[in-house]
Order: sequence, then structure tokens, then C-alpha cells
Amino acid sequence: AKTQRLDKILSNMGYGTRKEIKIFIKKNNVKVNGVGVKDGSFHVSPHEDMIEINGERLDYRDTVYLMMNKPQGVISASFDPKVETVVDLLDEGYRIFELFPVGRLDKDTEGLLILTNDGKLAHELLAPKKHVPKTYFAVVDGKVTNQDQESFQKGVTLDDGYVTQPAELILLKSDDISEIELTIYEGKFHQVKRMFEAVGKKVTYLKRIAMGSLKLDSNLDLGEYRELTEEEMQILM
Ligand code: URA
Repeated sequence: AKTQRLDKILSNMGYGTRKEIKIFIKKNNVKVNGVGVKDGSFHVSPHEDMIEINGERLDYRDTVYLMMNKPQGVISASFDPKVETVVDLLDEGYRIFELFPVGRLDKDTEGLLILTNDGKLAHELLAPKKHVPKTYFAVVDGKVTNQDQESFQKGVTLDDGYVTQPAELILLKSDDISEIELTIYEGKFHQVKRMFEAVGKKVTYLKRIAMGSLKLDSNLDLGEYRELTEEEMQILM
């Protein structure tokens, strides 16, 4: 199995810089597979060897999966010199993992966003072939009708000529101001907003509420996040 220096592993897990860890290992009771280790250059297989610090087993991991309820006003990126990003909202402890958002929500869109450092999972979730359905709640200026429902089912032509794949529209409220749920199976730029533009209406509020059967946790306030549970991981993988 792949091995890594013990000091690198501890540093990745937030125990400090290499230099600090040299001192940390000297001062503390660090064991690998039950044997005391005082040298940070010692090679360890983090997934297979048991590392203990002062009698407590190290819960080693190198991949992290979060679900966030993205608020408006932050962008779906890891870093931006000017604008606050979703990664800027994370606690210090998560910084070391170099997380990035899987896909994008517009700056003014809220809701379910997955953050991970697992490039493989991200790639798979985003693969157009996979067609992971994404469900949105929206408030729309104008009366959304059964006619629109049929149009979305057939496919509408966006401003650039692209014809959308069949999408499912549910009318929650059909009035001067409407409320809907829309499930799409692809992810073109500004897709939901542009689909409504295609039928002459304007989205004034947009929130992603599900990706496939993974639902946004309603206990998460805007800007809050938590790690995915085992069951949720199963849904994604
Ligand atoms: N569709 C949009 O128009 N915006 C989003 O953020 C997501 C889907």
C-alpha cells in the first residue's frame, strides 16, 4: 500500500507545520501499530496502519464530502480575489482539505451544493452522460401554466438555439407570481432562468432542493453545511 511520512500525514490533518510536528512527535506518545515512533520521517500507510496519539486512535481520512445550503451573494468557486466564495464559508478545520464545489449555482441562487476534494466523484456527478437530475424550487414572475408544463416536457429553445431535454415542472402556485418545482437532467449555464425566459417569464428566486434522491437537509440554515452521512454517500456513488 502507498505510504507517506508520518509528519506529512499529521500535518495534513491539521496538527501543525512539519517543524511543529517534529516537536509534537517528540513530546507526545505517538505509536504506529502499537510501537512508539519519535521520527517524523517514519513511513506509514495511513489507511492500513493504526496511528495512535496519546492512546487515541487517529481517524485518518483524506477525502471529505459536505452538503451546504448555499446562500445568495457567494460564488461557487474555491477562491476569488474579490468575491466571497462558498469555500470561504467553511471553518478553519476544513481548509486543509482543499475542497471545491461540485458544479455551480449562480451567485443569486441558494440551496444544495456538494463540496468535496474527491475529484473522481465530482467528475462522475458532473458527467453529462450520467444525467443526475437536479430539482429546483423557484418563484416566477408571471402565471406559470399547464402549457408551460407541456413545453418543458417537450423541450424549449433557449436564447442560443439549444433545445432543452425533457424536464418535469410541478406547479405549486399558479398566479401573477407563481411557485414551482422543476427537475432538469442536464446543467446548461443559467438553465432554469433561461428556460423560463424561453416561455416569457422571469425567475425571481431560485433554490436547488435536490440532486437525484439526495435532498437538501432542511435543518441547514443558509450558509450552514455538514458532512454527508453514509446513506447519502451511497446515493451519490
Ligand atoms: N439554473 C439557473 O438558472 N441557475 C442556477 O444557479 C442553477 C440552475
